[in-house]
Amino acid sequence: MRFGFDIDDTLINLREHAFHVYNKKLNQNIALEIFHALNKVEIHEPFGMTAEEGSKMWNSSLEEIYYTNCPPYLGAVELLQQLTKEGHEIFYITARPPEHRERTKKWLEEQGFPVKNENFYCGMKDQEKVNIIKKLQLDYYFDDKPDVLNTLANCETKVFVKTQSYNEHLTIPRFSDWSEWKQLIGEAENLR
Ligand SMILES: [Mg+2]
Repeated sequence: MRFGFDIDDTLINLREHAFHVYNKKLNQNIALEIFHALNKVEIHEPFGMTAEEGSKMWNSSLEEIYYTNCPPYLGAVELLQQLTKEGHEIFYITARPPEHRERTKKWLEEQGFPVKNENFYCGMKDQEKVNIIKKLQLDYYFDDKPDVLNTLANCETKVFVKTQSYNEHLTIPRFSDWSEWKQLIGEAENLR
């Protein structure tokens, strides 16, 4: 089988990590409950920033957000290692800026994720992921972001959403914990 994964907020807890980074940088102590109630992907609002200020803050913090100690979600590394061991193909499809391709790949490897250079796609726009997913003829694809998931409705690929506070309105099959994956795949097979 061919499995495709988004990285940020699907395999790793990036926004929450960034929220901690913002608290520290701005000398604030905004509670995680506020983070968990956000109904959009962007995290700047609780810090009193406009969209423009938020975007500046995000871009100037990228180094720390991407390459420090952002934790993978529980079970994610083990799942991808197991899939690889079982002979499945793993693809990463991330809209991180293209200049972050090599370091992101290396960072993932350091966390224990199995990465093949030729299966690593980086730097496309959210709306362009669908073309790669179709071209690769993935059996399964996992993502968190409504802007991506909304483009995948007519894909042959079986799509799953990693539950986040900003995607609860989506009606496609969802999971919140990677330990649920076996059951999920089982249900998907029954749908075919
Ligand atoms: Mg994502």
